[in-house]
Amino acid sequence: MKKYSIGIDLGGTKVLIALVNKETGEVIHWVKKKTKKDKGPKNIIRKMVEGIEELLEESKISLSEISSIGVGAAGQVDREHGILIAAANLDCYDLNIKEKINEHFDVPVYLGNDVEIAAIGELKFGAAKGYKDVVCIFVGTGVGSSIVKDGKIIRGATGTAGEIGHIIVDLNGRPCACGAHGCLEAYASRSAIEKRIEGALKKGRHSVILDYMENGKSITSHMIHDSIERGDELVTQCVDEAAEYLSGGIASIINFINPQLIVLGGGLIDAVDYFYQKVIKKAKAKSLPVPATKIEFKKAALGDFSGVVGAAFLEG
Ligand SMILES: [Zn+2]
Repeated sequence: MKKYSIGIDLGGTKVLIALVNKETGEVIHWVKKKTKKDKGPKNIIRKMVEGIEELLEESKISLSEISSIGVGAAGQVDREHGILIAAANLDCYDLNIKEKINEHFDVPVYLGNDVEIAAIGELKFGAAKGYKDVVCIFVGTGVGSSIVKDGKIIRGATGTAGEIGHIIVDLNGRPCACGAHGCLEAYASRSAIEKRIEGALKKGRHSVILDYMENGKSITSHMIHDSIERGDELVTQCVDEAAEYLSGGIASIINFINPQLIVLGGGLIDAVDYFYQKVIKKAKAKSLPVPATKIEFKKAALGDFSGVVGAAFLEG
């Protein structure tokens, strides 16, 4: 087996490209590039190709030592053909990533989605190492998850299993980007919390978060954390509300799948421990008594690198 792989995490605003030691999961070198939506698919391929070239040059490792290039993209993917079917944040549709990368590098190229690669990373070298039945849930702009059964990712009939963000938690609820109403994502994501805070501020509620929002800065997970630390009533209230919904969604997953472990990750979980603690406590309380006795919770351990490490292990 060749010792190295390249893992690529293609997100809405940035692409992270890393050279990964397949034996240890160690990230040897990495390159980060910004992806701007307005520059289209050509730009995205160019950024990835440039990144791979830089990586090989810096690490003095030749392409012959690379076993594969794995790409995880924030969007819907056709794994068999290596096609990014739709990535709204990148304004990319029907982009044949495998073919385009192979025009420059003659190694096997595999495609997966962003949540899947993060889960593979956590399973191989992170919080889920050694566990067989796991659900990894990532909370950020949206809420995504990946289900692991007997050590393997469950993809489902159309490859879309794990869409926890679109579990319906309120039949007549808030509209969701997917077109439905009352999806968990519309209540429990960082974007949902942001909207709640902004809505309340517009109505004249006071919050210390305004101190961080000068010059039109948008709300970040760190601002949410700092405001809670300062005892801010509005921000705490909005986060409590999101925790109530997310814990309800997670309790449903615990009852339905009966996993050993739930791994929680993503920007909001990393930055706001208050939210994480509240969610796990409430999720346990809301689950049925028997599955609740066995369930464990852990925070994702690889941070920003979980995606690239997992992508390095994508297979056909
Ligand atoms: Zn939805």
